[in-house]
Amino acid sequence: MGYVEGASREQVVLFPEALDDYVSGENPVLFVEAWVNQLALGELGFSKAEPEELGRPAYDPRDLLKLYIYGYVNEIRSSRKLERESQRNLELMWLLRKLSPDHKTIANFRKDNRKALPEVFRRFTRLCRELNLYGRELVGIDGSKFRAVNGRDRNFTEAKLKQRLQWIEEKIKKYLQALQEADAAESQESEVSAAELQKKLKELQARQAAYEGLQQQLAESGEEQISLTDGEARLMKGRQGQHVSYNVQIAVDSKHKLIADFAVTNEENDLNCLAAVAQSAKQELAVEQLQVCADRGYYNSAQIKECEEANIEVHMERPRPRQVAGIFPLEIFTYDEAHDEYECPAGKRLSFRVFDKDRQLRCYWTKACRSCPLKSQCTTGKGPRRIKRPLAQDAAERMFKRVAQNPEVLKLRKQLVEHPFGSIKRWMKQDHFLMRGKEKVSGETSLTLLAYNLKRAIKLEGVEKLLAGLGQMSTKNMLSAT
Ligand code: SF4
Repeated sequence: MGYVEGASREQVVLFPEALDDYVSGENPVLFVEAWVNQLALGELGFSKAEPEELGRPAYDPRDLLKLYIYGYVNEIRSSRKLERESQRNLELMWLLRKLSPDHKTIANFRKDNRKALPEVFRRFTRLCRELNLYGRELVGIDGSKFRAVNGRDRNFTEAKLKQRLQWIEEKIKKYLQALQEADAAESQESEVSAAELQKKLKELQARQAAYEGLQQQLAESGEEQISLTDGEARLMKGRQGQHVSYNVQIAVDSKHKLIADFAVTNEENDLNCLAAVAQSAKQELAVEQLQVCADRGYYNSAQIKECEEANIEVHMERPRPRQVAGIFPLEIFTYDEAHDEYECPAGKRLSFRVFDKDRQLRCYWTKACRSCPLKSQCTTGKGPRRIKRPLAQDAAERMFKRVAQNPEVLKLRKQLVEHPFGSIKRWMKQDHFLMRGKEKVSGETSLTLLAYNLKRAIKLEGVEKLLAGLGQMSTKNMLSAT
């Protein structure tokens, strides 16, 4: 018994197969084709959305957008790989009608339309909203670090520069001393070694000048670090140690784990990221009220208050108390809202004294600390025990009450936010950026998140249903326009 035989390469066929034969009814490219064709790219801000009257015809931005969407869905992100695939991949040949733009044209499209790409992501969100794929009641917010095009050795902080300069100074001192000794020896052998030492010295002095230049640049920028390849990326601590990265924030809807909105930031932690993403998700979901859950890494009473004012209910665990061994924790001081005072373990009342405008903190203390027998357990300082209450603490207290009444919401948080990031990093293999600069990185992120949502929507609804929904939406838009 032989093996299964393939078709003969020399076989001439009477009726050659059409490209359409390779694309079945449930193929995602059918949806990509129909969806991109009905997008008003000019309105979204794409360049060359209308053909030029004179000169060589350019590629239609619709074709290049289809190429990128197909690429990101299928883990092909580099412009060179996309060019190659457009020449040999039957689905792409169908989608682009056998067009094969060169890699430079492909790369320029992503770069030139970086501001328009987030809008494409949002247009798909709107379609999913019309198809009732979003629950629009509860979203989970989380952030993850994605590596930037910038190695760790091309990122500098003040401390790192200081350390390098110190090392160079010591090295220069040693070389100078060695040069003096070589001069004193005055032998042929020592002349050769002196030339080598001079060369090394010059190299070190050049490095010293470069580091001093960076030090000045850093001081003038007012930033805490400087990245040389991607100036906007920052050194951040992630699960795999410290890397120069961007912090991508997403809001995930609880119904089908579809992403409602996102933001690319260069914040090293999540402390100031909650309100902006929560508000943009609320806007994209077009709701009056929204519930949001996040981990305690986001705990910031000012952000919680901002959400409250925007009609967004935050659910978050209480942050772990910062405990100093042998000292009473803040939690055992009770706040009396009616009198705006704290009661301490000795039964004394700490009243409001000063407002710290810079840090938006209200400070409380009592003169009774001077003669208190518990003072050594209360403070390590000479003065009284001071309690600092953030101005927006009331909003945080209201949130804790809400969480205590409805602890179930917090249980959903982990399942909600880990699915998209897990899928994007592990299954779609998109854990690093190819572009430099926050705006371009944001454009790239839109394509990644659009690919995630698209795959998920197709899995939930199927291509045919999505196409039907698209048809209904176009009719609706036409009716509302007339
Ligand atoms: S040191 Fe001051 S705040 Fe602390 S227990 Fe004594 S009176 Fe109260």
